[in-house]
Parts: sequence; structure tokens; C-alpha cells
Amino acid sequence: EMIEFNVFFNRIIDRFEMSKSQNVYFERELPKEQYFVEIDPDKLTQVIDNIISNALKYSPEGGKIQFAMTVEDGFILIRIIDQGMGIPKENVDKIFDRFYRVDRARSRAMGGTGLGLAISKEMINAHGGHIWAESQYGKGTTIFFTLPFEEDDGGEWE
Ligand code: ATP
Ligand code: MG
Repeated sequence: EMIEFNVFFNRIIDRFEMSKSQNVYFERELPKEQYFVEIDPDKLTQVIDNIISNALKYSPEGGKIQFAMTVEDGFILIRIIDQGMGIPKENVDKIFDRFYRVDRARSRAMGGTGLGLAISKEMINAHGGHIWAESQYGKGTTIFFTLPFEEDDGGEWE
């Protein structure tokens, strides 16, 4: 399905912004232009829901989550940046493994199965994109993902 990513992404962020119970501030840096992506919207919703839930789960009281989108050669690049507890450097890539959770004690308290990001990685890869993370332990985490975009919406000539 051909989806305009900005509208799609904003709608997901809105849903979290309206329902969140924590005192966490959302900041958006999204382009004004339209970018069309050929995606399964239900699957991409699942991916983004998991990334935002993780960011909220690990955000401190009064923290900020930034949602940024930029464009580079044929791909949109999405960044979801939190100020949470972060992930030790040696474990950053492992968070995309099935059932991997950084710290058992911490994770038990937070709930979840450790499958969210493994599924996200499969789905982003299936859409021709990449997903990765950067983190500073104690300072915060950024999840990045890319998706190829189409030059036009594939619609009829006007
Ligand atoms: P599920 O998503 O299945 O409910 P989960 O959230 O624990 O469970 P993932 O979303 O796959 O699983 O994340 C894997 C692990 O990576 C988490 O348990 C957590 O330890 C770590 N993690 C993921 N996102 C963040 C983040 N934004 N900040 C800190 N740690 C994170
Ligand atoms: Mg999760």
C-alpha cells in the first residue's frame, strides 16, 4: 500500500501523546514535504508502536522524546531519541535479537518479552530498510530506521 509517511507517522505519535500517563515531552522535527512509501501500514504501526513504547518505558520523569525525519538518497531516515537509562555499548546490537533483554532484573520490573525489536528488524528488512541503535549508558538511546521512498505517489497524471 502506498502511504504518505508524514501523516502516517504523526498519527501514531499523536495517539501516544494523547494516551501517555508519564510526564514526558514529545518534540517533532518532521519535514513539510510529502514522502510516499510502499509499506504494510499495520506492520509498520507495530514497529513504531514498539519503538515508542520502549522509549516511554525507559524515559525518566520530565524527559523528552524526539521524533526526527530526514531524507537521504532515496531513503527516509527516522530517529526516535530518548533520554532514558540507555544501553551499555557492548549490548546495543543485541537488543535486536529474539528474547534479548538488557538486564533481567530491570526487564522483569518493566514487563515485555524481548521480541519487539526482533520483530521490528524483520519487518523493516522486509520493507527494504535498515534498523539500528546508538546509546549512551545512563544518557539515552536513539533508534534509527530507514525506508525507501517513491518519487511520486504512483497516482494518475493530473
Ligand atoms: P516486548 O517489546 O516484546 O514487549 P521488550 O520491550 O523487552 O519486550 P524489545 O522491544 O525487543 O523487548 O527490546 C529489547 C530490550 O532492549 C529491552 O528489554 C530493553 O532492555 C532494551 N531497550 C529497548 N529499547 C530501549 C530504550 N529505548 N532504552 C533502553 N533500553 C531499551
Ligand atoms: Mg519493546
